[in-house]
Amino acid sequence: MIIVMKPAATEESIQHMLDNVEDAGLEAILLRGEKRKVIAAIGDKRDIATDRWLAAPGVERIIPILSPYKLASREASPGATPVRLNGGVVGQQKVQVIAGPCAVEDFDTTLDTAEAVKAAGAVALRGGAYKPRTSPHSFQGLQEEGLKILHEIGKHSGLAVVTEVLGTEQVEVVARYADVLQVGARNMQNFLLLKALGKVGKPVLLKRGISASVDELLLAAEYVIKGGNSQVILCCRGIRTFETHTRFTLSLSTVAYLKEVTHLPVIVDPSHGTGSRSLVPAMAKAAVACGADGLLVEVHPHPERALVDGQQSLTCGGFAKLMEELRPVAEAVGRTL
Ligand code: PEP
Ligand code: MN
Repeated sequence: MIIVMKPAATEESIQHMLDNVEDAGLEAILLRGEKRKVIAAIGDKRDIATDRWLAAPGVERIIPILSPYKLASREASPGATPVRLNGGVVGQQKVQVIAGPCAVEDFDTTLDTAEAVKAAGAVALRGGAYKPRTSPHSFQGLQEEGLKILHEIGKHSGLAVVTEVLGTEQVEVVARYADVLQVGARNMQNFLLLKALGKVGKPVLLKRGISASVDELLLAAEYVIKGGNSQVILCCRGIRTFETHTRFTLSLSTVAYLKEVTHLPVIVDPSHGTGSRSLVPAMAKAAVACGADGLLVEVHPHPERALVDGQQSLTCGGFAKLMEELRPVAEAVGRTL
C-alpha cells in the first residue's frame, strides 16, 4: 500500500508513520518527492486495519495496491476454479444452464418443468423451497416439503438441485436435500450464513445483492472460501438503479470485469435481471457472449398460474427455443452448450 503524506507533514509525523508500518510487520520505504513524501508499505498484510492510519497526523491518503479479497482474486489462483454440480462442471468450456420454477409449488409442476429443462439441455434444476418475499403475506414456499420434492425429482431426472437457504438455521436441512445452496440477493451480506456455508461440503451459488458493489460481492465470497469452502459460483442478477422499465438493471460489464479479477465461475440470471419474459432470451444470449460460465433461468409450464415470478418465467417451449438460440452464440465465443 502507498501512504501519501500531506504537503505540510512534519518530519516527526513521517517518522511516526514509518514506525507504525514497521510495527505492523511491513517494510516501510520513504520516497521523498519534491513536494510530497510517500511511504510504500511492502508486504501482504490485508488483515490489518489500515483505515485507522488515516487518523494519524500528516496522513492524507492510503492507496491499497492489492485487492481486499485475497482468496477470491486471480492473484491468489491464476487458473479458473471449476465448481462441480452432479452432472457437470461450472467454470470450464461448457456453458451450464440451471433452470426451473421460481418456487417449488407442487410435485407435478416441478416434475414437468424438470423433464422439459433436462430435455432442452439444462444441467441443474432450480426452485425455491424457502422464498425470501418482500411481503410476509406472499407465498413463503413449501419449506422442507419443497426440498423433498426437489430431491426426489433431482434423483429421478439426474439434474443437480439448486435451492435457496435463507438463514443459518436452515443450512443443515437444505444441505441434506440440495446439491447447491443458493444465497439470495437479500442475504449476500448475511455474514453468519456465509460463515456457516464455509463449513458445508457443497457448492454455494452466491447472488449479488441489489445494491452491493462488486468488491462487496467478492468479499462475501471471501467469507465462504475463508470458512473452508472454495466451491463458490458468483451470480449477477441485476442491481437497483434509477431505471424503472426493467425490474433490475442487469450489469453485464460486471461479468466481464469479474472474469478478469476472480478465478470463481460467474453466471447470470436474466430472469430477475429483467423481470420480463420477453427480455430474458436477449439478455441470456448477451450474457453468454460476454463470457458468463452459465445461466440461471426461471421456467414454468404455465407462467400465468405461477405462484411467484410468472411474468419473468419462460414457458418450457420458450426455454427449449432459447437453448437452441444459445448454441451458436456459445460457439461464436469458443464455448459449448
Ligand atoms: C431466486 O433466484 O429465486 C431469487 C429469490 O433471486 P434473488 O435472490 O436474486 O432475488
Ligand atoms: Mn424468482
